Amino acid sequence: MDTPEEWRARMVAEQLDARGITDARVLDAFRSVPRHLFCPAAELSVAHGDHPVDIGHGQTVSQPYMIAWMLQEARLGSGNRALEIGTGSGYQTALLSRLAHRIFSVECIPELLASARGRLEELGVANVEFLAGDGSVGWPGRAPFDVIIYSAAAPEVPDVVKRQLAIGGRLLAPVGSRMRQNLVRIERAGEKEFPEQNLGGCIFVPLRGAFGWSD
Ligand code: SAM
Repeated sequence: MDTPEEWRARMVAEQLDARGITDARVLDAFRSVPRHLFCPAAELSVAHGDHPVDIGHGQTVSQPYMIAWMLQEARLGSGNRALEIGTGSGYQTALLSRLAHRIFSVECIPELLASARGRLEELGVANVEFLAGDGSVGWPGRAPFDVIIYSAAAPEVPDVVKRQLAIGGRLLAPVGSRMRQNLVRIERAGEKEFPEQNLGGCIFVPLRGAFGWSD
């Protein structure tokens, strides 16, 4: 029987390293965060598979590669403040906690937030602040952020969220229709300058709330 550490090492080698994830800090974070603890009902083979994993309430913990891609493109620095929109299982939150200084994570399903908070406490993660509510408006009270990451697909990134970026900050979001999106990186180059880059196609669960989808 392979141990969780062995499953993670294989996941990193076959799904991340082999597909062009080169950021050593991102790869190390994936090796150290116990993904199986965030996929409670899944066997080790399922928890480390090349796909999203069901976490209940119609939600998933995202595919390892998709998370790694976003984290790499966000260019997180160890002193950064990062906002995560959509805590889900807390898996990506745990990865972020190793890559940045302070994490702010918003989740709209209170039961998911409670489980994620419990897991992170058990793992001794202490640099995360949580909010139960609508993350589609960001978290104005904790802005500015060096990095903003959407864990759910958005029809658009509203100005109210873009303006929560620090100058030089990076925002990563799947933007498009409910069925298909492009991963977009928006940088805040100046007070009113927000150049955008399309990084490629992706598929995420839909964002809810004021700037998401209602059905
Ligand atoms: N990255 C997460 C992980 O590691 O488990 C997976 C996140 S899951 C794909 C997307 C999450 O976004 C869901 O938990 C969903 O409830 C949450 N979500 C959707 N719309 C939201 C909103 N407006 N505000 C906060 N969370 C939202």
